[in-house]
Amino acid sequence: MRELPVQELTEVVKRLCIETNCQPSVDLVRMTEESIQKEKSPAGLSALKQIRENQKIAATEGVAMCQDTGLAVVFVEIGQDVHLAGGDLETAIHEGVRQGYQEGYLRKSVVRDPLRRENTGDNTPAIIHTKIVPGEQVRLTVAPKGGGSENMSTVKMFPPSAGREGIISFVVDWVRQAGANPCPPTIVGVGIGGSFERVAYLAKVSLLREIGVANPDQFYAEMEREILGKINDLGIGPQGFGGSVTSFAVHIEVAPCHIASLPVAVNLNCHVSRHQTVII
Ligand code: SF4
Repeated sequence: MRELPVQELTEVVKRLCIETNCQPSVDLVRMTEESIQKEKSPAGLSALKQIRENQKIAATEGVAMCQDTGLAVVFVEIGQDVHLAGGDLETAIHEGVRQGYQEGYLRKSVVRDPLRRENTGDNTPAIIHTKIVPGEQVRLTVAPKGGGSENMSTVKMFPPSAGREGIISFVVDWVRQAGANPCPPTIVGVGIGGSFERVAYLAKVSLLREIGVANPDQFYAEMEREILGKINDLGIGPQGFGGSVTSFAVHIEVAPCHIASLPVAVNLNCHVSRHQTVII
């Protein structure tokens, strides 16, 4: 049994809150630069160039890529042979978020109650997803999520007869309705299967994949390509200014489901697409 002080988790969460907000990931930069080569719409191209310029400024000056520094979503995979010592896991994570958002001068975007709307003042509580896995390591992923793109999320419980084509038209139509709201170019996270609550988690988890890496199952990889093609034919374009780069990628994650169900969820990530992982 490996002993791991929870203070180490606090330190990592703090660092990742700041880095994910201020440092564009390698895959995000690559996607932005490739899209600049592809985009034909002058207004869309101009938006992409500004997005790239914004990434450079954020990285060199250590400032957030967007004023909405997000709700801190934290995924923790805990090896079953790890003993977390010196405190409890969730308190340690919340403390990391609190310190990171304070020290990184990141906007505090959480209200304590959904209707009475009082800001908690420190961006806590985080949303924490915990999974017990084999081994003696802890894998921590911090994925701040802005409200604009998160609001453009949906879940639908289809009958199984909706099938592949029903899902494709649902996702494409959803992106059409979302328009410029999720700050395109987006990454379109699609969950298929599981249950009502599991499918939303699948859509969220799909956004953690390196941008544009296909689903390992060819059936779903082909579906991702087809949906992306149809989305980029919509003409919404970067920041909604028109063009062919409405989305950088479509990522599908699937899970077994009930014989009578076909749950589908869409979770859009915006052009700042923030997430980083550290293994402790
Ligand atoms: S959707 Fe993304 S880019 Fe747009 S305001 Fe929110 S965090 Fe910023």
